[in-house]
Amino acid sequence: MSIASVETELQVKPLTARINAKLPVDLKSYESTGGYQALRTTLKDLKPQDVQSRVKDSNLRGRGGAGFPTGIKWGLVPMGPDAGAKYLVCNADEMEPNTFKDRLLMEDAPHQLIEGMLVAGYAIQATAGYIFLRGEYVKAAQRLNAALAEARAAGLLGENILGSGWSFTLVVHTGAGRYICGEETALINSLEGRRANPRAKPPFPQIAGAWGRPTVVNNVESLCNIAPIVLYGADWFKGLSQGKSKDGGTKLYGASGRVKRGGIYELPIGTSAREILEEHAGGMREGYTLKCWLPGGASTDFLMPEHLDLAMDFDTIGKAGSRMGTGLILALDQTHNMVSILRNLQDFFARESCGWCTPCRDGLPWGLKMLRALERGEGRAEDIEQLQRLTVLAGPGKTFCAHAPGAMEPLQSALKFFRSEFEAGIKKPAQAA
Ligand code: NAD
Repeated sequence: MSIASVETELQVKPLTARINAKLPVDLKSYESTGGYQALRTTLKDLKPQDVQSRVKDSNLRGRGGAGFPTGIKWGLVPMGPDAGAKYLVCNADEMEPNTFKDRLLMEDAPHQLIEGMLVAGYAIQATAGYIFLRGEYVKAAQRLNAALAEARAAGLLGENILGSGWSFTLVVHTGAGRYICGEETALINSLEGRRANPRAKPPFPQIAGAWGRPTVVNNVESLCNIAPIVLYGADWFKGLSQGKSKDGGTKLYGASGRVKRGGIYELPIGTSAREILEEHAGGMREGYTLKCWLPGGASTDFLMPEHLDLAMDFDTIGKAGSRMGTGLILALDQTHNMVSILRNLQDFFARESCGWCTPCRDGLPWGLKMLRALERGEGRAEDIEQLQRLTVLAGPGKTFCAHAPGAMEPLQSALKFFRSEFEAGIKKPAQAA
């Protein structure tokens, strides 16, 4: 593909046009397709507030899973000459089950993330940035560190960037592979060298984050959208959704499970789950029918085949009783036993609890114990009611962070849609001889 056609394609698929063209990931190649133009424009022509307004107007919502509007988040940071040290953190601790979109971006578009962080850092006038990277993402660490070295050598990072007077340092910090480090306040504690327990919010990190200073934590995919928004404008970004959603942009959707072509697809935000699964993932494999699906990672509620025509955006999937989360769909088929699926998921959530809040520390292993018994056909009649009770005891509002409430989402929806499979795991009374 020629450079000109990559530049045209970037206006339709700003996140993956370079990746799809299989361009090298180095600085020279990135700059040959318009890379770092957004940074140059920002430092030359825009005030921090201008960048913030552009991102706010674009309707970009956070791509980590919660969908909080990015521009509004930045707008909460104290500005002004006396604001002091401020930090920008990229949440690259991608550990949501069946989610692997940020890894693609970091491995194959490292400069796009770095440029996004530079522009975002300028917008909030941050003094330093950190990429908090999942420890297992070894290739991403290598590619990011190589790209950072290139950017530093080219004067795009460090002191007095491109002669603008603005200075910004940026480093990769690798985690040790704990799911809870993806929760932004646990991440900040870990970055500071403390145990990764979530903090009570408020104060939100935008006011008091790393080392008590204002800190913005943004997801990798969110940050990779920043340079294109600055370069092509907020209206262009809003238009990328092609009227399928009031949110702006494309989204990295994905599919895994019993589909023909699992993978990641950059599509207008608001594309239906049916299109994602049937067209882009090729539908279910021969001999299998779709039983149910998780819209975006394990901490979302199951949806059913009748929900397939819903637009995959934060509000629509929310109204259907689930959450879009990370947007990477897990498709289950008729051969999957829901008790076993839930046992597997709850095993993960119980293991990854940081142990700080009682409903999470004690509640998740309790649920897992009941699920294991039901899976063996040795459950007690009361287990189903107890599991139902657990979804409230460990649900929203009972813990510092969203870990336990997230774990309860697939459980509560599986109990709603597939109760008979749980009942089948109750031990039958012994037959008289
Ligand atoms: P959240 O809704 O509490 O917060 C999301 C973001 O919005 C945070 O940055 C927070 O600071 C900000 N925010 C929310 N309310 C605010 C307010 N009133 N004022 C100022 N800022 C506010 O969600 P969360 O607990 O951070 O994240 C939960 C999400 O994380 C879930 O949706 C889940 O899908 C996702 N998740 C993703 C991964 C992954 O690997 N990508 C892993 C685990 C969980």
